[in-house]
Amino acid sequence: MQTEKVDVLVIGAGPSGSVAASIINKAGYSVKVVEKLKFPRFVIGESLLPRCMEALTEAGFIDAISERGFQQKFGAKFVKNGAICDFTFEEQHTKGWTWTWQVQRADFDKTLADTVEKMGVPIAYETTVTDIKFHGSDSVTTVEDIHGNKKQIEARFIVDGSGYGRVIPKLFGLDKPSVLQSRKALFAHTKDIRRSMVRDQPNRITAVVHKKGVWIWIIPFSTGITSVGFVGEPSFHDGFPGTREEQFRAMLESEPHTAERFRDVEFVFEPRVLEAWSATTDKFYGDGFVLTGNVTEFLDPIFSSGVTLATVSSQTAAKLVIKKLKGEEVDWEKDYMEPTMQGVNVFRSYVMAWYEGTLDTIFFSEKPDPLVKQQICSVLAGYVWDQSNPFVSNHEEALKRLARLIELTEKIKTVE
Ligand SMILES: Cc1cc2nc3c(=O)[nH]c(=O)nc-3n(C[C@H](O)[C@H](O)[C@H](O)COP(=O)(O)OP(=O)(O)OC[C@H]3O[C@@H](n4cnc5c(N)ncnc54)[C@H](O)[C@@H]3O)c2cc1C
Repeated sequence: MQTEKVDVLVIGAGPSGSVAASIINKAGYSVKVVEKLKFPRFVIGESLLPRCMEALTEAGFIDAISERGFQQKFGAKFVKNGAICDFTFEEQHTKGWTWTWQVQRADFDKTLADTVEKMGVPIAYETTVTDIKFHGSDSVTTVEDIHGNKKQIEARFIVDGSGYGRVIPKLFGLDKPSVLQSRKALFAHTKDIRRSMVRDQPNRITAVVHKKGVWIWIIPFSTGITSVGFVGEPSFHDGFPGTREEQFRAMLESEPHTAERFRDVEFVFEPRVLEAWSATTDKFYGDGFVLTGNVTEFLDPIFSSGVTLATVSSQTAAKLVIKKLKGEEVDWEKDYMEPTMQGVNVFRSYVMAWYEGTLDTIFFSEKPDPLVKQQICSVLAGYVWDQSNPFVSNHEEALKRLARLIELTEKIKTVE
């Protein structure tokens, strides 16, 4: 079998793989990416957060992405029974990026991967990792292309950015179920011919509370196409009979916020289903490998945290891999696992508060405190590592306490 030698093997050419490949390559090490599919390929995850711009900048991707003309994103809107809670990233607690993009991921991911290739990193598309053997921290990975040709890649280090493929966790039995409840999404890209009927910020991502535990994403792209998806427990979806298209049209019709705008609109593809996406592993690193992006833990789409956690974890991991290749000591637990879990844990609190209804109470309260709104806005912008923000440092308690206070104040007002 043919054998190739590199310093670092990166599995997956999604955002996590591309960020890691670029940063490690820039430090002068030989990198190879293997990617199971042919790009462009469809993947969901279209709304980015400002915090990911820092990782994309360090990876050298911003110019190439800018050229694609994606929809710029300056905030996020939440809607419930006609009430609107609008966050603008300029009005936030943490000093950082105040905008980002809403992207068609097929095009976005190809742009990142093409940029990596232009930097001189080879990407083997339609090539799947089938086996890995570790000898200390060195490894031999077996890959197979679509014609069945096998090859071995010897690497000093592996970055696993294989997303839902979960290559290393599956090969070494590291998978662990998430504590989050299993949810299901039905979604499509639509020709949004009535977008102009939205009065304020028609191009801003909107999350609509449909009913308890069920919400809708509306992500407008610069092309006039809009991504729309319903997320809820499987039992919610079971209540809609028929084909996926019939189910999706009936769902759109059942929500006042979407009924008129999306009535009879053309779908760019037949509505698709994704479910049970939350998964995690015990350990995000080991002798000779690190897991980045979705392989570490993917929570839920509600706060668009996926690509941000993917790119930021890869940015952090890449710097540690470089240190390791230089022969320096790396404390993976302290410098990788802990900060990565910090981000995941903050978002997990917000995801749970969203489904429990705590965030509804806060978002749609009569008179939101502007300071508190700015602090929560920073979390929604992805600044979940800023310990000066009480809604980060005390993420579990701060939301509950605030919701209780709002409920109490509103009760007192009703009595008066
Ligand atoms: C319903 C839903 C909605 C979402 N919405 C958002 C959103 O609005 N915003 C957001 O930021 N995130 C969102 N996400 C999350 C987002 O999809 C992911 O977090 C993001 O794609 C993670 O990037 P990644 O690079 O880690 O993985 P991926 O983008 O999945 O890339 C991994 C790559 O690895 C390749 N691969 C897999 N197995 C192998 C193998 N054996 N060998 C070689 N290559 C392999 C795959 O082909 C793939 O190209 C959503 C997720 C879901 C389920």
